[in-house]
Amino acid sequence: MAFMFDGTAADIDRVAEPVAALAEFLRAHPRLFVLTGAGISTASGIPDYRDLDGGWKRRPPVTYQAFVADAATRARYWARSLVGWRRFGSARPNAAHAALARLEEAGRIEALVTQNVDGLHQAAGSRAVIDLHGRLDEVRCLQCERRIPRDVFQRELERRNPAWSEFDALAAPDGDADLDGLDFTTFAVPACAACGGMLKPDVVFFGENVPRERVERAYAHLAAADAMLVVGSSLMVYSGFRFAREAARAGKTIAAINRGRTRADDLFALKVEGDCAEVLSFVEECGRG
Ligand SMILES: [Zn+2]
Repeated sequence: MAFMFDGTAADIDRVAEPVAALAEFLRAHPRLFVLTGAGISTASGIPDYRDLDGGWKRRPPVTYQAFVADAATRARYWARSLVGWRRFGSARPNAAHAALARLEEAGRIEALVTQNVDGLHQAAGSRAVIDLHGRLDEVRCLQCERRIPRDVFQRELERRNPAWSEFDALAAPDGDADLDGLDFTTFAVPACAACGGMLKPDVVFFGENVPRERVERAYAHLAAADAMLVVGSSLMVYSGFRFAREAARAGKTIAAINRGRTRADDLFALKVEGDCAEVLSFVEECGRG
């Protein structure tokens, strides 16, 4: 069953029913496996990729194959990243991140697996976090595995490309930015200072696999959990969808808070179509009442 909830007080009965059902779901399942996606970070100023039908809202992100194979693609990626990072790097957690941190504090979260690379769950105080797709605040050398903080790399990008520091553009979920129609050919991409190798943000790109150990760790937590809660993800990407499929296979109840269609709609026992922060805070009030 699916409910619509637009966060207004216009139809109190319509709002109360799904939230009460979600509160009941939380009461019935003490240990949750939580999976979050881009929808939880939109209120922090990081836009999501998908429209309400689960289709691409923007140009699809760069693939791993294109990034490693083509210097021009890397130049374009880092130029857009230089501009996007200022906004992305200063994003702060919102009320939905805070609500999940309180849920963990109350001993209710077995693990929080996020598809986001923004680190906002940890910034809100969550500790049981598995960053499925890595973190954008680190850069890794593909040759010697050396890691450097993104902030350090940002200063190096700006030092080598002073003209690009002037631009401001709309940031994307992966820290990318919209900079159409610009010439990227003069953009200077720094190599690893230790070995001269190729640097890449320490995130899982499209076309790249999530490290096996990370997936196994998440599966182990799912097995130990009573139920699964999806927050702000359309589950269009297999790396997240597989956990819903596994939960269903294991007979665990799945509830979801998400605006719009998801790939796992037919697996959900309960779906609330609303704003993540508003729904979670209403559910918290239900829990207290
Ligand atoms: Zn290196």
